[in-house]
Amino acid sequence: MTTNTQSFLTEHATSHLMDYQIQKINRQIQDFIHVNQEIDHYHFDVCPKCGKKHPRLIKAGLANSGKQMLKCKDCGKRFVIDRGQLTFYSHQPADKWNELIIDTLEGNSLQHTAASIDVHEMTVFRMRHKFLKFLEDEESPICTQ
Ligand SMILES: [Zn+2]
Repeated sequence: MTTNTQSFLTEHATSHLMDYQIQKINRQIQDFIHVNQEIDHYHFDVCPKCGKKHPRLIKAGLANSGKQMLKCKDCGKRFVIDRGQLTFYSHQPADKWNELIIDTLEGNSLQHTAASIDVHEMTVFRMRHKFLKFLEDEESPICTQ
């Protein structure tokens, strides 16, 4: 399978890395770029931690994943900004979610998805469950504009 991922690494770096490591790093960089680009468009109707409507949110450092965190001034809890609702609280980056969603909609097997996004079948199972539940959920507290 070919990846459309643009390479962010120098020739020197790639000559010392395995293909899957290069792909992993490039995917992660692309994921960061997307999050950074979309960060100003995030809109929270409700705090995902305490459920307060129109919460007052402030930037509150970065998570271990390198993603921006916000802090709710009402409950004092922090949470990670991520691309779209599905990737909230998920350890999987958005590009894996994209592949999983396409695979799910195309009716491909868990094994197929697990192999193509390089995660355990149980993880794919949980992600797929989360995605299908998301489709059923009409009311969603967090949205992008
Ligand atoms: Zn809150």
